[in-house]
Amino acid sequence: MNDCIFCKIIKKEIPGKIIYEDDKVLAFMDINPICDGHVLVIPKKHYEDIYAIDNDTFLHMFEIAKKLAKKIMCVLNKEGATFSINYGNMQEVKHLHLHIMPNFKEKPSLTYEEVYDMLTKE
Ligand code: 5GP
Ligand code: ZN
Repeated sequence: MNDCIFCKIIKKEIPGKIIYEDDKVLAFMDINPICDGHVLVIPKKHYEDIYAIDNDTFLHMFEIAKKLAKKIMCVLNKEGATFSINYGNMQEVKHLHLHIMPNFKEKPSLTYEEVYDMLTKE
């Protein structure tokens, strides 16, 4: 999709703080985090929403989200996380994405750069 902001991040046409990438999915930091470690996991192929994606790709996306959430919680020392997918008039960006939100009731306490550095250093 030419005008899709997330497709542009996939194609590296606009910058994204990418923390994971494989042939099918990309994970990057939400530009407006509601908590430290707020990350979005998206399929690399443009699917508009949860009802458009095939089950195999969705399963892969969810497996990656589960692994990443463990890593993010460990790195940021959080004990819980919320996995969420918006749809319809609740979905702002019409490229399917899964939010990983560690302890989302705690407001962000770190800068975007600090979180990115923590999540990307081995
Ligand atoms: P939705 O309501 O569609 O589930 O949420 C879309 C999310 O995408 C929001 O949390 C918003 O902050 C995030 N977002 C929107 N535009 C961009 C962008 O250009 N870059 C990044 N990294 N996140 C974005
Ligand atoms: Zn797209």
